[in-house]
Amino acid sequence: MSVYLTTPIYYVNAEPHLGHAYTTVVADALARFHRLLGVQTRFQTGTDEHGEKVLEAAAAAGLPVKDFVDRVSALFRQTWDEMDISYDHFIRTTQPEHVQVVQEVLARVHAAGDIYFGEYGGLYCYGCEAFYLERDLVHGLCPDHRVKPTFIKEENYFFRMSKYQGWLLDYINDYPDWIRPERYRNEVLAFLKEPLEDLCISRPRSRIEWGIPLPFDERYVTYVWFDALLNYLSGLDYPEGEAYKNFWPAQHLIAKDILKPHAIYWPTMLASMGVEPFRHLNVHGYWQVAEGKMSKSLGNVVEPRWLTARYGLDQVRYFFLREMVFGLDAHFSEAALIARINADLANDLGNLFARSLGMAFKYRQGVVPPPGGPAEPDKEVTAAARDAAADFLRHFPALEFSRALAGLWEFIGTLNRYIVTSAPWELAKAPDAAGRLDTVLYHLLESLRWIAALLRPVMPGSALKMSEQLGLGLSLWDHTLPQTLTWGRLLPGGALKKGPALFPRIEVEEKEK
Ligand SMILES: [Zn+2]
Repeated sequence: MSVYLTTPIYYVNAEPHLGHAYTTVVADALARFHRLLGVQTRFQTGTDEHGEKVLEAAAAAGLPVKDFVDRVSALFRQTWDEMDISYDHFIRTTQPEHVQVVQEVLARVHAAGDIYFGEYGGLYCYGCEAFYLERDLVHGLCPDHRVKPTFIKEENYFFRMSKYQGWLLDYINDYPDWIRPERYRNEVLAFLKEPLEDLCISRPRSRIEWGIPLPFDERYVTYVWFDALLNYLSGLDYPEGEAYKNFWPAQHLIAKDILKPHAIYWPTMLASMGVEPFRHLNVHGYWQVAEGKMSKSLGNVVEPRWLTARYGLDQVRYFFLREMVFGLDAHFSEAALIARINADLANDLGNLFARSLGMAFKYRQGVVPPPGGPAEPDKEVTAAARDAAADFLRHFPALEFSRALAGLWEFIGTLNRYIVTSAPWELAKAPDAAGRLDTVLYHLLESLRWIAALLRPVMPGSALKMSEQLGLGLSLWDHTLPQTLTWGRLLPGGALKKGPALFPRIEVEEKEK
């Protein structure tokens, strides 16, 4: 059993923004989660570096195109490194290994008769680098760029996508969660109600030079999508590499704007190549950023490194996964981020952690006490821990991050109430309640061990801080997650460690300075 997680390769015509960061953090959290389950995991991200828009962006920046793509690709990589993204492979479509795979695939698909030469006249949007049908336009304009497409007629190569329409429809119907959540599956099915056109996969070099030359006709370069999508295979050393044998098929993560290439072009390409379809296409919505609401003067462009430097990496990761229901749009604002940090992290979790450890130091010299026989409220805590963990382990891999975290926070609420009703400060005053106090403190500390174990994929740094203060450090994750989540593994007699507050409150006045 293995898992291969991919983000899209990001187009280098623009710098990393909030949307890129979200997809990448989701992929990272899933990769970390699967590693904790003991599943062999590979996580790939990278940059898409060919196409007309890249040429334009390079010209606008006044740089030779190769220098430009090197610079922006490095910026993406640097951003992910600074955000501690645990990718196993960073791919660039200008790498010779990738170019070679694209050319091999083109030659093979061409030889098999699925690529043909023909003339095509159509409405072309230069922004999208794509032809549009009349019916795809909105009031005669490109739906993305709001510009009138240009009619161009030229000879090109075409991929026989239409040939695979029936197969694709059957596949989507046979595997209901192949494209998920369901709203995107339905969108693709609606699109497939119309006859599928063949895909123009070449661009004449007289018009654009910056691309991978077709192996069977040097006058053309490869259409950027036919090139880019193959990164998911070339990054595994397809067709002969061990990585390909171990890790394909992939779990792709994408934003909804690139649903069509991933749900239609890509599976039909794979079918033509005789490669098993990807395992899942996981599609998320947009972060809607209210203009003028960001402190940064760049309109609605939120630079991820700026955000994490200001609010903390784990805080931003938590916000991403908790605030957005995967698949739906969500609103982004600094106010919403601060509210989550202060309420969920500083108050609910941070206070629970600080109070529990504080009492263990105050009443038990920072040593994990031995639990006595559990009373009813203690049994309720143990049962709540088991329920929360089981729900988390079910929802997280199903991309229901928000639900997984909401459930865990209900458990945190249960523990905060347990402190109030058990009143350890009262137990500490009564000498004959010493055993009871031990039991209550143990249940709190053991519950926090569970919470730290589960939060590792979401907030790696904070989970480690929690584990360190619980006296466990990295050894907390020596076993697979289900093994770690066995009640009673926190050993009495263990030494706790004092540490700084996990999540400092953000004072709004301070922010406004
Ligand atoms: Zn367009």
